[in-house]
Amino acid sequence: MIDSNTMPRIIITVPHRCVDGIDDNGCDKNAYEYAKELVKYLRQYKCSVKFITSRAPHFIPRSQCDLNRKQCRSCHMRNEVRKALHSGKKKDMFLFDIHTFPQCAAGTVFPAGAELVIMSGNTKKFAKDFFKLIKRSVPASSHFMAAAVNDIIEEAIVDFDVPAVLIEFLDSTVDVRPVAATIAKWCHAS
Ligand SMILES: [Zn+2]
Repeated sequence: MIDSNTMPRIIITVPHRCVDGIDDNGCDKNAYEYAKELVKYLRQYKCSVKFITSRAPHFIPRSQCDLNRKQCRSCHMRNEVRKALHSGKKKDMFLFDIHTFPQCAAGTVFPAGAELVIMSGNTKKFAKDFFKLIKRSVPASSHFMAAAVNDIIEEAIVDFDVPAVLIEFLDSTVDVRPVAATIAKWCHAS
């Protein structure tokens, strides 16, 4: 029997679930679907998962307020994330923020040929450590990018000392299972 006290607690966030085509450049169309798959596999890998996304009646299109920016910290979804970060022991907690990008963004916003992009906040340490593991175990073409403006992971790292990483998947072609296995491995080992 699994002791729930020793399971890593993983917070999965999808801030850009609600896309309206105005300000998103085709990004995040499948972020919610990828995240759902990830949650399913993580639970199979004996992780305790809290899945947080913007949802009715609190849907906010990115064009109105980008939930991954500091100025949207007071929104409903961000309060939910903070509540989850407050609960439980910090040392067993991790956060993964899930996004997708369209093929046309590979080679422009993202590196050419990228299928999987691992992004950090200002604190690059966690994302770099995780990227090393991903590179070894996931066949999809993966890249690391330092990006300072991902506020969900920034808040988790700076205010809560919780390791947090942003994952960008190429729309609808990346196998989620090895990514879930890598997350589970990293979290169980940390
Ligand atoms: Zn996004």
